[in-house]
Amino acid sequence: YEMRFEGNVKTKELEELVSAVNHMAATLSEQENLRRRLTTDVAHELRTPLTTVASYLEAIMEGVWEPTTERLQSCYDEIDRITRLVSDLEGLAQMESENLRLEKLEINFLELAKNVGNNFAAELDKKKLHLSIEGEPAIVSVDEKRMIQVIANLLSNAVKYSHESGQIRIHIKDTEENVLFVMEDDGIGIPAKELSLVFERFYRTDKSRNRKTGGAGVGLTIAKSIVDAHGGTIAVDSEEGKGSRFIVTLPKHTRS
Ligand code: ADP
Repeated sequence: YEMRFEGNVKTKELEELVSAVNHMAATLSEQENLRRRLTTDVAHELRTPLTTVASYLEAIMEGVWEPTTERLQSCYDEIDRITRLVSDLEGLAQMESENLRLEKLEINFLELAKNVGNNFAAELDKKKLHLSIEGEPAIVSVDEKRMIQVIANLLSNAVKYSHESGQIRIHIKDTEENVLFVMEDDGIGIPAKELSLVFERFYRTDKSRNRKTGGAGVGLTIAKSIVDAHGGTIAVDSEEGKGSRFIVTLPKHTRS
């Protein structure tokens, strides 16, 4: 922005300057608010499991509680939760850093999805879920490791938010322009008013907030930033009580 004052300061130029400064101030305060919220959220996410572990250990050390396997398991689960949160945060920070470098390779997306699916065999069995992966062997140039993470994050949500004996369907579609990854589950679904929020950091629907199985709410944020980095899009469509559908669209021809 360049201002020149010749003789009298012109009202119009002053107005423009004021508006530019206001805009800058608003952007800065928005960023500051976001940063502050992030810190508060992380602190909160850490405090809950830490309080649990501390109070369990205290009761055991004071001899109030027997160190039963069940109680130790609870402590372990909470520590596991903290560990996952920390690695999620690392992943998020890495994704959001400026110098995100993708190591792209031509891969068959159907094969990739099937490989990730195989890694979920035990989790699927535990809930008696049925997973089908079908479609076209679409070839696309992606960062394989990161795409595995996208599919794994989506699939792990489908598992978490499905009822016992549910169905999860993955369909790979190959169009002229894009490769589409469509995943449908018949689980608990997402309330319409919360749909637009699920990709936000630390967002969890009220339902999953109360669940033991819920994560920290960054899985979809990470998935979205990976897909964004590939020039693709990720969308969700859901009906509460019926199930959800996530659609990842990846461009086959990128400019870079
Ligand atoms: P979380 O670690 O809590 O699963 P995510 O970022 O992966 O965090 O997801 C954010 C929220 O979106 C979840 O807490 C859950 O409320 C909702 N969600 C995500 N996937 C599904 C799904 N397949 N079915 C129902 N709700 C889902």
